[in-house]
Amino acid sequence: MEKILNYINGELVAPEENNWIDNYNPSNGEVYSLIPNSSEKDVEKAYQAAAAAYPSWSNTTIDERSKILSKIASLIEENLEEFVAAESKDNGKPLSLARAVDIPRASSNFQFFANAITQFASESHESVGLNAFNFTLRSAIGVVGCISPWNLPLYLFSWKIAPALAAGNTVVAKPSEVTPMTAYLLSKICNEAGLPKGVLNIVHGLGHTTGQAIVAHEKIKAISFTGGTATGAHIARTAAPMFKKLSLELGGKNPNLIFADCDYDKMLAVTLKSSFANQGQICLCGSRIYVERSIYDKFKSDFIAKVKALKVGHPSDTETNIGALVSKPHLEKVKSYIDIAEQEGGKVLTGGNYVTIDGYENGYYLKPTVIEISNPICRLTQEEIFGPVVTIMPFDTDQEALELANGVRYGLSSTIWTNNLNRTMHLAKHLEAGIVWINTWLMRDLRTPFGGMKDSGVGREGGLEALRFFTEPKNICIKYN
Ligand code: NAD
Repeated sequence: MEKILNYINGELVAPEENNWIDNYNPSNGEVYSLIPNSSEKDVEKAYQAAAAAYPSWSNTTIDERSKILSKIASLIEENLEEFVAAESKDNGKPLSLARAVDIPRASSNFQFFANAITQFASESHESVGLNAFNFTLRSAIGVVGCISPWNLPLYLFSWKIAPALAAGNTVVAKPSEVTPMTAYLLSKICNEAGLPKGVLNIVHGLGHTTGQAIVAHEKIKAISFTGGTATGAHIARTAAPMFKKLSLELGGKNPNLIFADCDYDKMLAVTLKSSFANQGQICLCGSRIYVERSIYDKFKSDFIAKVKALKVGHPSDTETNIGALVSKPHLEKVKSYIDIAEQEGGKVLTGGNYVTIDGYENGYYLKPTVIEISNPICRLTQEEIFGPVVTIMPFDTDQEALELANGVRYGLSSTIWTNNLNRTMHLAKHLEAGIVWINTWLMRDLRTPFGGMKDSGVGREGGLEALRFFTEPKNICIKYN
């Protein structure tokens, strides 16, 4: 069986203690590779390599860093099909989705930061009347840690690594233990791209051991983390006594507010996507749908007809809209929410059950599910389910829609469907969310800040925000006579 290896100091190596974890293929439930169950020793080795590489990498010219990141981007593109197949097999997502979104975006992340770093200028301020100039020096931080989840594996892994490297840091990174494969493929192309040894180190393993060792390492000065809110809180507690810089991108429970005056057909098509793309396993999915009462019944029947037409199938089947969920425990967690629908006052309108696919009977498949709710404060609307399950409910006024939208602990993204400019502006200002999409969903310009409010996180990624996070600002004040 294939063994995935750690990438430390430019070499692919087995874990020091020779412990391994099974890696499952969600489409058929079979173990198909083994990944390192790395210990503190492996993290320490990775740290030492990163620390040794830091003085030289942080002094490498911007041009040279930019060229290497660009080369990584083009090597991902050249090997696109290999990355696409690995992402789909590891995660259960349709091949078509990995080909259209995940892998191109991973390549774009490297290319974006290869360009962005060349434009990352220092700010200066003239202290008028005091005969002084100030400028802000932004230097790399040192060795930084990057930890990412399983839902968009290479997409999110590279979203952290690329700006960290561009800014001149060296990195100890850990992808999710559930989806390690594309990070492993990435480690295979870094040397060819000319990345000096030790600049990027990838250590595979479990969160509470390998991940914890990265966060608890005294000399790793910043942690960029994307994952669950509970894990984020744990990381914050561990990091606080060491005053580490933290970027936390956490869970979401995003509202989708649909008004009667919207462009209905466009809204319906995009709402289907925002509900079920990637099996509903995107932190930005609009899992709480609120519809203005005058169009509620029409929406309900049109939406359900569309949901029923979605094909759940093997990820490599070109007809598949909904692939496999990422793991058996996750499948069961999502199903357990459907099972409490009735006791929460909800009614399953469509879906609600597992799906068995011929030839892949042990795969982790679930029907896309729509639950109508009457009580807005219930576990189905308050907790992140992170699967192909959405709730729907009518509303009567803009104020009610706003209160429903904001009535959760999370604040990642919101979507509004309306053609009323005043309503749009009012809601956009008052929605408690880091991102507000109006008449669209998941449109991302990589220059814009990305992240959440409330329990959805601390800090922002994207564009200059990411480069700011991965640098330490220093004010330099010069007085003249
Ligand atoms: P998770 O929190 O279980 O794990 C995320 C990563 O953290 C994994 O690599 C895991 O091994 C590691 N980890 C776990 N415990 C750790 C610990 N104690 N110390 C250090 N590292 C640890 O999350 P998941 O199940 O992989 O991902 C799903 C979650 O991620 C959802 O809540 C989703 O909303 C969130 N997410 C958020 C965003 C965003 O940008 N806000 C994007 C994608 C996913």
